[in-house]
Amino acid sequence: MREIKHSFNMKIDSSIKICDECSSEYYKETSQMDNLCPECSNIMYGYENCEHQFENGRCTKCFWNGNKSSLLPKSKDLTNEKK
Ligand SMILES: [Zn+2]
Ligand SMILES: [Zn+2]
Repeated sequence: MREIKHSFNMKIDSSIKICDECSSEYYKETSQMDNLCPECSNIMYGYENCEHQFENGRCTKCFWNGNKSSLLPKSKDLTNEKK
């Protein structure tokens, strides 16, 4: 008899969601919001953020891709308008 070992150590797709704000994928279980990644839920609602650890452009903890949503103020525009 042979024992078949699965090599899938990665999380299954069902736990991956898309953030409403920044359109990044993230692991559902890492965010306390239903439709927001940990980053956006932290910015918008003050929930605990993930301590991102980026590898190949993605956080290995929450799968966030580093997208910054439109939440952040565009400082360039603001300074331009000041005269
Ligand atoms: Zn987000
Ligand atoms: Zn993260």
